Amino acid sequence: TAPVVSTLSEITLAEPRGFCAGVDRAIEIVERALQKFGAPIYVRHEIVHNTYVVNDLKQKGAIFIEELDDVPPGATLVFSAHGVSRAVQDEARARGFSIFDATCPLVTKVHVEVAKLAKEGYEFIMIGHKGHPEVEGTMGQLDSGIHLVEDVADVARVQPLQTDKLAVVTQTTLSVDDAAEIAEAVRQRFPKVREPKQQDICYATQNRQDAVKVLSPQVDIVIVVGSPTSSNSNRLRELAQKLGTESHMVDSADELQAAWFEGKSRVGLTAGASAPEVLVNQVIERIRAFGAVSVRKMNGIEETLKFPLPKGLRLDTPT
Ligand code: SF4
Repeated sequence: TAPVVSTLSEITLAEPRGFCAGVDRAIEIVERALQKFGAPIYVRHEIVHNTYVVNDLKQKGAIFIEELDDVPPGATLVFSAHGVSRAVQDEARARGFSIFDATCPLVTKVHVEVAKLAKEGYEFIMIGHKGHPEVEGTMGQLDSGIHLVEDVADVARVQPLQTDKLAVVTQTTLSVDDAAEIAEAVRQRFPKVREPKQQDICYATQNRQDAVKVLSPQVDIVIVVGSPTSSNSNRLRELAQKLGTESHMVDSADELQAAWFEGKSRVGLTAGASAPEVLVNQVIERIRAFGAVSVRKMNGIEETLKFPLPKGLRLDTPT
């Protein structure tokens, strides 16, 4: 229920927010595979970390699995946007599935770099969150020689076999500021460490965090649309909070609580890279029902990046 007298005035939408090119492509791969080959299409792990997206695809005939044992022979299998280890790739191939790889090209870029440098004898320090599927996929490009650090304390503990050929890689969806701090600690301990020419944190993560930095000081509360499993969405909520603005993450509009908005006037709204705009619109409607009267868009950069679909799913190419 809405507060009796609302103090809410304006909702400011972060720019950019929501879907990135990698998420767009991953969802389109599953949808096109469903159209072309019919249900069911098997998807290893949530295609992207968003409850609404996953439920929508389930209704259309996608079956989400974690273990390849749960995929029947001859099935069509899609790898999620987070990427997979070599072991998973090899096993899926050996089982003869028809495979479409929805790994974000920016994650694949990290995989390629790891494989290339490993051939040159490099060992790796990976900055990332333990247990996240992207970290498992990237670390799983090698059998050994890649060490995970989650924070500065881990950097002090990590034990590479040698330090002459050491390289840093990161998960694509980290906090830009935290990752910089951890990378600095790595540099201090291992001065010869090789860093990626272009940082591994992706443009979408960077842009959404930059937008929250501009937005937070302009508002009294920040709402982030995103699922609890979404790394980049969690980082947006933490960032707003760190900047001193109360912040909440919601998976859907019905998670919004009227009490959050009591005594507040200006609401900032953003969405993680895996959260669809339809949810943002539902959140806007709900906050309007709580008393907000207007919506404006923040000035921000426009993203135009688009990744091509895999061969066999492009509309213009017969297979
Ligand atoms: Fe790719 Fe970045 Fe989007 Fe992840 S958040 S899918 S790395 S563009």
